[in-house]
Amino acid sequence: MITLERVSQYYETETAGRVHALEEVSLSVPAEETVCLVGPSGCGKSTLLRILAGFLKPSSGTLDVDGHPVEGADPERGVVFQQPTLLPWYSVRDNVRLAYRYSGDISQKESADELIELVGLGDAAERLPHELSGGMQQRTQIARVLAAGPRYVLMDEPFGALDPFTREQLQAELLRVWAKKRPTIIFVTHSVEEALLLGHRVIVMAAGPGRVIEDVVVPEHLRVDLEDGEVSRETLQERLRALTADPDFVLLRHQVTESINRAHATA
Ligand code: ADP
Repeated sequence: MITLERVSQYYETETAGRVHALEEVSLSVPAEETVCLVGPSGCGKSTLLRILAGFLKPSSGTLDVDGHPVEGADPERGVVFQQPTLLPWYSVRDNVRLAYRYSGDISQKESADELIELVGLGDAAERLPHELSGGMQQRTQIARVLAAGPRYVLMDEPFGALDPFTREQLQAELLRVWAKKRPTIIFVTHSVEEALLLGHRVIVMAAGPGRVIEDVVVPEHLRVDLEDGEVSRETLQERLRALTADPDFVLLRHQVTESINRAHATA
């Protein structure tokens, strides 16, 4: 369980003075839940993720993970960035294995190939990063983060730089990963649709200063059914496409977009 209580963040800048990035954000994320943070640019999503990762100490407020205050970064909380940071002279497999060096858990060594398979790179394990598409590089990064065995996966617009088709594939992939490993995921995006497709819950944020304006629980009937574990990538993508056309989904997407627009207009 991740618990944020009344977290505020200020940045001291030379050119703009004091920037109020987050205002009293409180949030609880139970184990195995996927929570998406959605909102316009500048509403503090990345700041919040950096705080959750332990890269940034909040100006005020508290952050606890499983009842313990966060003192800094920890392999238990893996971070996936928008731009994959792969070592160019290492193959996909070796990039994934790199995670063990930091987590120190040698017993997990065998699982690199399982993870590479899980993210759909089974045929590309020997390739070097420059021989991979952007989507494949991002899959590699996800496998590497998972290889450290994190209980929490923090993702900062991980699919933001991908074309729409690849993005759709990676969304399906992430749902498969979640079904298999059940990590707690906090996923930052500015796409309301992506947030509703991936999240059990969607935290809607507004800027000026960054704050939470809504906490939306995605109803069960608008979530893809992952109970039959071994669902194929293609079937899952079809289910996701069908969901985006469901009138209830369209209505919810509209409602969330409207509340972001209203907050934007009054900021
Ligand atoms: P988002 O991820 O939603 O786009 P950010 O967390 O990046 O929002 O930014 C929130 C606010 O804090 C913005 O006004 C941004 O300009 C400011 N900000 C973010 N990082 C820094 C920083 N390192 N120094 C100064 N201001 C920052």
